[in-house]
Amino acid sequence: MNIYPKFRSFLSDKNKGALTRFLIETGLKPRVNHQADSPFKRGIVVFSADFEMAWAFRFSKTKHKEAIKKGLEERENIPVLLDLFKRFNIPVTWATVGHLFLSECKKGSNGLPHSEMPRPEFFENRNWSFNSGDWYQHDPCSDYKTDPAWYASDLIDLILASDVNHEIGCHTFSHLDFSYNNCPKLLADAELDICIKLAAGKGITLRSMVFPGGTHGNFESLKEKGIECYRKPMKYHIGLPYIDPFGLVAIPSSLGLDKDPYGWSKEFHLKMIRNYLDKAAKYKLVCHFWFHPSMDLWYLENVMPEVLKLVANYRDPSKIYVKTMGQVAEEFKKLTAETQRREDRKANA
Ligand SMILES: [Zn+2]
Ligand SMILES: [Zn+2]
Repeated sequence: MNIYPKFRSFLSDKNKGALTRFLIETGLKPRVNHQADSPFKRGIVVFSADFEMAWAFRFSKTKHKEAIKKGLEERENIPVLLDLFKRFNIPVTWATVGHLFLSECKKGSNGLPHSEMPRPEFFENRNWSFNSGDWYQHDPCSDYKTDPAWYASDLIDLILASDVNHEIGCHTFSHLDFSYNNCPKLLADAELDICIKLAAGKGITLRSMVFPGGTHGNFESLKEKGIECYRKPMKYHIGLPYIDPFGLVAIPSSLGLDKDPYGWSKEFHLKMIRNYLDKAAKYKLVCHFWFHPSMDLWYLENVMPEVLKLVANYRDPSKIYVKTMGQVAEEFKKLTAETQRREDRKANA
């Protein structure tokens, strides 16, 4: 399978789309861990959202000019998404950029935003380039009414007020590259500390992490600060979590929900979703859908309601459970400990 990404990178967009479509039509995608000995009684569906507004895009190599536009789209879509998830009583893990907990901020004594926060050194990764100025140079240092793409205390309150049992997770304070290379421990600790403090101000305990921009690292800091799990792309789209060497639960990432660049129909999108749900239900494995709340409007209005309806139609006849990341981590740790105790008893008998 190692040559596959290389092979794929040589294809035109049209051919990439045709190849993915072929893999889905033939059942080769999603890749399913058939061999897994699942401790779960049913398949589990998880939804997580990268709630980040303008913060995610400010150093993007391709989208930095759209940062505010993306932030405002996200702001418009979130109430629509909350209504949809409420209609089907489906919880989401909202992996939230810490700055969004604020309703305002001001320049520090040295004239810089968040002068108390450490900054990353200049870096470049696959998607971002930070090569001049201050890490917080885009922060408007105003409030959510003046600059609604940078603050979202009001939207977090809206999520918390929902009848659905949503979870608020962590997506770092400033949406930085969290890899060991580009984020020293001191910086990782400071980012987590301020997120934890701001979340606590709203009565929230952060348990789940979604790493920004596909980066990952600083697992020691996550463990020390009480985070229990994170989302991770794995070999199998439909598979089991595992407990990593730090004692954190890695939860597989299955499919990003949004309009595709290939012009696929709504029917094809739903066929794909059904494939994922069938496999998760049949093998009692985890299917983890994730999305950006700034998702395409066509997808939000036409596909997303049908996706949630499908998930509810699997949940209600008891084919699957729908859980948040924190709930999956807790359940998986509990079941793993029970299995371990059974095996220990057998070994001692
Ligand atoms: Zn700020
Ligand atoms: Zn992000």
